[in-house]
Amino acid sequence: MTGSVLLEAKAIVKELGQGAGKVRALKGVDLGLRGGELTLLMGPSGSGKTTLLSILGCILSPTEGEVVICGQSTKGLKPEGLAKLRRLNVGFIFQDYNLFPTLTAAENIKLALDVRGMAKAEQRPAAEAALVAVGLADKINSYPSQMSGGQQQRVAIARALAGNPAVILADEPTAALDSENGQAIMALLSKIAQDPARAVLAVTHDPRTLSYADRIVHIEDGLIVSEERPKGAARDSEEPEEPGASSSEAEDEPPGPKTESATEEVAAETTEPADAIRHNGATGPDADAREPDTTDEAARPQPHPQPVSASLTQKKPNNRRRRSPRFARGEHLP
Ligand code: ADP
Ligand code: MG
Repeated sequence: MTGSVLLEAKAIVKELGQGAGKVRALKGVDLGLRGGELTLLMGPSGSGKTTLLSILGCILSPTEGEVVICGQSTKGLKPEGLAKLRRLNVGFIFQDYNLFPTLTAAENIKLALDVRGMAKAEQRPAAEAALVAVGLADKINSYPSQMSGGQQQRVAIARALAGNPAVILADEPTAALDSENGQAIMALLSKIAQDPARAVLAVTHDPRTLSYADRIVHIEDGLIVSEERPKGAARDSEEPEEPGASSSEAEDEPPGPKTESATEEVAAETTEPADAIRHNGATGPDADAREPDTTDEAARPQPHPQPVSASLTQKKPNNRRRRSPRFARGEHLP
């Protein structure tokens, strides 16, 4: 079932580099992402995919244009404001997983939840629930080196989902995986995207991923040139939409963005995925839009608390670990 527009990019222009090396990486991109859909972003190398993903995920601010996430515009936001919006509403998944090798699967997620400010007592159960939800109940105490690439990517997905963000952005999530693991990851992302409260966008070069897409958007030389819906019309009774289609209709009003108190900011500012993007060898965010650099190892994973939707569970999570309704409503968040 298709949900409301959770993320909108409007007339996005992005210039990267300086002086003679300045590149207009995005030249006016409009893109809207609805809940309940898995969108694939495809295009040649250098066409602006990673730059667009970074802007949609509030890692970079656009040179021109505006991104609206769950109804909140990024316009005029300083890097800290962008970071907050990202932390609360966006989950990232990277090609090379970005797990800490010295931490177990559960600890990798727990760390992200800790930095996010989740109560200590909640962290372990929430991390375990997230791993169960991605089919890794038997790997909770395993280190990344004891897992296959596909399993490591599942941990990274669990970490991204553990914050219950409205938008999941993945940059070539299957590129480092063999066929079987790549298919399993796409099946998982597709399943996640069945939640009308969740929009998933994955950058891909990988033709094996196409069958999972609800929508494929093609980008060339900084512009969206076409899109298609391989499964036919939108999942629900929605009218077909243009790239970047926005809606002012009441029923399309997205839920408001999550907000957080200033008290969390200091911890949270040390946990942004900008470092992960750089480690990933992807587009280097320009200096003005980057988060403050940090050498702290804890800076890389993303802080996302909250359990993964029970609908994702491949094995039923232990009932004793079920969140309270108050938790499910996010009331434990500031
Ligand atoms: P894709 O992910 O589609 O391969 P990118 O978004 O990484 O493309 O890059 C888009 C364009 O911007 C390319 O021409 C790339 O060379 C350029 N670019 C990326 N990062 C920078 C940067 N930090 N400075 C200057 N140009 C950049
Ligand atoms: Mg790229």
